[in-house]
Order: sequence, then structure tokens, then C-alpha cells
Amino acid sequence: MVELWNGLALDGTVNGNDLRFINHSCAPNTYMRVIGVHVEFYALREIEPGEELTCDYGPTHHDGKLPCRCGSPGCRGYI
Ligand SMILES: [Zn+2]
Repeated sequence: MVELWNGLALDGTVNGNDLRFINHSCAPNTYMRVIGVHVEFYALREIEPGEELTCDYGPTHHDGKLPCRCGSPGCRGYI
């Protein structure tokens, strides 16, 4: 889920939304910007062909209680 400025949210699990391809990581290779009703991802570093795209979700509706399984060395443990 990505919360938009107008109180609505985009749900990556419905309508074939491409958000579903970007998983959380505590050491992401992209960052997300929400512009109006559009969500854009930008590279934080060079990304190799075939490498999974990841983003730090930041605060979520899980309130930091969902165990993180990103596997990065600096994993915070929860989302
Ligand atoms: Zn993590």
C-alpha cells in the first residue's frame, strides 16, 4: 500500500499494479517518490541486470511489528 496525498492509497495487490514487484529492503537499491497519484522509483546506485528492485517502505500500517525478511546485513528486524 502506498498512501497518497489525498487520503487514498494504491494497493499493489490489485489490478496488476506494478508496485507488487518492489519489495521492501532495509538496504534498498531504489527510493520512492509519490507525486500526486503517481508513484515513481529512482535508483540509489547502479542496478545490475536481473537484480531485484527494492525500496525502504519506511513507516507502514504494520507499525513496526511485521518481521522483516530482507536479509540485508543492516536489517532493522521489523517493518
Ligand atoms: Zn530488513
